[in-house]
Amino acid sequence: MDNTKTVADYEALLRSHHLGATPLQVAVIRIMQEEANHVTADFLYEHLKKDFPGIALESIDLTLEEIVEAELVRRYRIDNREIFDIKIELHDHAYCKSCGEIVELPKYEFKILPGRLAEWVIMGKTRVWYGTCPDCLSKE
Ligand SMILES: [Zn+2]
Ligand SMILES: [Zn+2]
Repeated sequence: MDNTKTVADYEALLRSHHLGATPLQVAVIRIMQEEANHVTADFLYEHLKKDFPGIALESIDLTLEEIVEAELVRRYRIDNREIFDIKIELHDHAYCKSCGEIVELPKYEFKILPGRLAEWVIMGKTRVWYGTCPDCLSKE
């Protein structure tokens, strides 16, 4: 992960996507680039509440909405949770049902589309592979 960026770099990135570069936007982008590529709003809330005393979860939801809208972050639904992903290109994930770990999978293309899908214009596809990770398996 990239740890060499400054606050000014993040502000510039946000502004180049027509965002106001609020301190909360900077903090969220920074965590996602430097600490965790896949986050939930709750995870961010836990990480940000000491730097932003009194912050509401709604403010984090709103900030995530803004950066998703600006196409800096992609939103997925995995196992009924909203996951925000700093990697904007569509890709597949493997998800551990026990601990929630998310692993990115290399790009895998269907060569032949099933049935009528062959006539579709496909704009994106993304899959989630469910399972149990080795760490969780070793604890069973
Ligand atoms: Zn696990
Ligand atoms: Zn991902």
